[in-house]
Amino acid sequence: MKYIEEFQDPDLAERLLDDIRATVTRPWALMEVCGGQTHTIIRHGIDQLLPEEVELIHGPGCPVCVTPLEVIDKALEIASRPDVIFCSFGDMLRVPGTGRDLFQVRGTGGDVRVVYSPLDALRVAQQNPDRQVVFFGIGFETTAPPNAMTVYQARKLGIRNFSLLVSHVRVPPAIEAIMQSPDCRVQAFLAAGHVCSVMGMDEYPGLAERFGVPIVVTGFEPLDILEGVRRTVRQLERGEHTVDNAYPRAVRPEGNPAARAMLDDVFEVTDRAWRGIGVIPDSGWRLSSRYRDYDAEHRFAVDGITTREPAACRSGEVLQGLLKPHECEAFGTTCTPRSPLGATMVSSEGACAAYYLYRRLELNTPARPAASLEGSPVV
Ligand code: SF4
Repeated sequence: MKYIEEFQDPDLAERLLDDIRATVTRPWALMEVCGGQTHTIIRHGIDQLLPEEVELIHGPGCPVCVTPLEVIDKALEIASRPDVIFCSFGDMLRVPGTGRDLFQVRGTGGDVRVVYSPLDALRVAQQNPDRQVVFFGIGFETTAPPNAMTVYQARKLGIRNFSLLVSHVRVPPAIEAIMQSPDCRVQAFLAAGHVCSVMGMDEYPGLAERFGVPIVVTGFEPLDILEGVRRTVRQLERGEHTVDNAYPRAVRPEGNPAARAMLDDVFEVTDRAWRGIGVIPDSGWRLSSRYRDYDAEHRFAVDGITTREPAACRSGEVLQGLLKPHECEAFGTTCTPRSPLGATMVSSEGACAAYYLYRRLELNTPARPAASLEGSPVV
């Protein structure tokens, strides 16, 4: 398959690995930002093929994982109402809130529907004018444009019984927060190509300069990751810290101007809580004042719900790259994909699920003590 198989070629992979081995002279810690990158790395054993000097730290870029418990509880509250049809992508239905999940709401009579596009939810609203239809809009810069466009369409078509429960997050403020943590070991980033295909790359040079870290944009196939690591290690060894696009077949420096214009129209930047981490300033989007009528939190008055994360789950440390999944005491014992304690085990993009799925159980080691987040700018 074009653009797939040639990016999985084992001979080319070996040549890239040879180049990395020949370049590296000392230890480096690189963070891959996105859960899709993490799954490629763990599935293909890339972390085990790299020279031992190169450590890959798994970052927070899993949309399901970082959606706060509080937002899940708001979804559960709204979905339980008899007048509501609650629409979501399927991966959110198993994410545990406080005591239950959306599947259980459906099992007790809630009208919870899996859709494949936010526009499907808008169609459900058109077909059910006497019901309130809510779409669960979560994720990064990748899923925000279609959600923005759906709200734009709802307003344009005068569809009043549709609303969005919004929990969108942005990558650059998370990179800033990670670099400002006193426990941070990250020396370079593999940035997520799909995010940059929407947003472009202009938010990254300032971060690279301020924190002295190379930022290399990669795709999601094995050779994309290896090429990203090769370019990153080369910069680190030379003492450079620039932004480099290793995914030019999908990413243009300016991103997607139409998608960015839609985001600017429908959303505005706001502080946003990340599950297990806390509030990161300016790290999310909410509906702008022009579209506030379409905000499900306001429509259903669920602003007041607050929650506490389960103490046993250390996904906050996993999401910040402070802990590897197999170092969590619960990994593979009390926490498995069938009975997850945290969202990083539920989500198909979660680092804990990747370690479990690709048989990293044998790595289970005694847990490190909880890393201190004291003094972190993540509040
Ligand atoms: S293994 Fe389970 S309990 Fe441990 S951090 Fe991952 S999701 Fe949380």
